[in-house]
Amino acid sequence: MNLLIKNIKQLVAVRSDGKPYKSGTEMRNLGIIEHATVLIQKGLFSWIGPSAEFSQAVDDDIDVIDASDFVALPGFVDSHTHTVFAGSRENEFAMRTEGKTYQEIAEAGGGILSTVRATRVASKKELKKLARHHLDAMLRQGTTTVEIKSGYGLNEDAEIKILHTINELAEESLMDIVPTFLGAHAIPHEFKGNPDDYVDLICKRMLPYIAKHKMAKFCDAFCEQEYFSVEQCRKIFETAKLLGFGIKIHADQLSQIGASKLAIEVGAISADHLEQIDDAGISALKHSEIIATVLPCVSFFLHCGYPPARKIIDAGIPLAIASNFNPGSCMSYSMPLMMTIACTQMSLTPEEAICATTINGAAALGLSSILGSIEVGKQADIILYNVPDYRYLIYHFGTNHVAKVIKHGTYLEF
Ligand SMILES: [Zn+2]
Repeated sequence: MNLLIKNIKQLVAVRSDGKPYKSGTEMRNLGIIEHATVLIQKGLFSWIGPSAEFSQAVDDDIDVIDASDFVALPGFVDSHTHTVFAGSRENEFAMRTEGKTYQEIAEAGGGILSTVRATRVASKKELKKLARHHLDAMLRQGTTTVEIKSGYGLNEDAEIKILHTINELAEESLMDIVPTFLGAHAIPHEFKGNPDDYVDLICKRMLPYIAKHKMAKFCDAFCEQEYFSVEQCRKIFETAKLLGFGIKIHADQLSQIGASKLAIEVGAISADHLEQIDDAGISALKHSEIIATVLPCVSFFLHCGYPPARKIIDAGIPLAIASNFNPGSCMSYSMPLMMTIACTQMSLTPEEAICATTINGAAALGLSSILGSIEVGKQADIILYNVPDYRYLIYHFGTNHVAKVIKHGTYLEF
């Protein structure tokens, strides 16, 4: 189906002009067109420009949207989520409001391992139902592409069950869904005291099986004290690379153990979190092709320090923002909310925040040549917002301003 969107009040194209991402210094340039028209044919953008210059003849039966009340942006690309899980942890949240420590919460049965327990006993059907509910809500809020990690199984059967769930959701959903294997998310209680044996299980059994059945595009690991060491992560990543996986890494979140340096060494596509990255780490990233991905909700929700996103951008490094949707540290997938937090707490400009949630999010998934911006030839993922100006979307937070969602050229009715 072809679609003409005419009289768009303001079009935020986020053009990258063939480059894979926008580096820090380019992130303020959004390629805005006032009073724009967009023609979509066969799911792709085929014409974009000022309405006054549109003179192409179109078929009589083409669908037309008059967007004179709307501002248009590319669909958001949420490049880091943990959307498939069972159970919830509002109990733990309440304990934290009362000042309970991480240790006390863990002793009361909370933390990642509580989600692992709930996810292990849930059926694939239950997991799909729960995740589908979240994915529908994401789409309504303007997210058209999402990465989903496994990592709440932590044994062969449960990790494979989660990846099956993600792959089936990808088949059935209108969204683009990118599966990532995060077997090294936490040390399962069965391997407490001998984490090397768990790393062996990941390398010798899980990764080969997942590669053989093409169940994940990326391999990720939580490189952190008391989780997985640099040496253990290196072993996982070297194995994963030989099997054809791209590499992502949870780096420098709680401490500085050299995780972002490992990201460079293994050629990761993105290094995510970076709350504790130091100046040496930033200058090392500068000489790599890595997308620095920050997750503003984690610092907001857990009331801990923010990553130095301003410094990262000023160093010229491409920055992406993702939700990190998960039951422990971010029960939100609102990308506009992530942008508001990034602007108010991390000193980003609205323009930088928009680049970070669109084209650079796509780059963090290796998809920026086909989506993440409104450019001729790219997949037509475009959201119309009922706002007076693109900056309003970030300024008026806590509500959903989406008027219309168009995914791959299809106008979705909710
Ligand atoms: Zn994460």
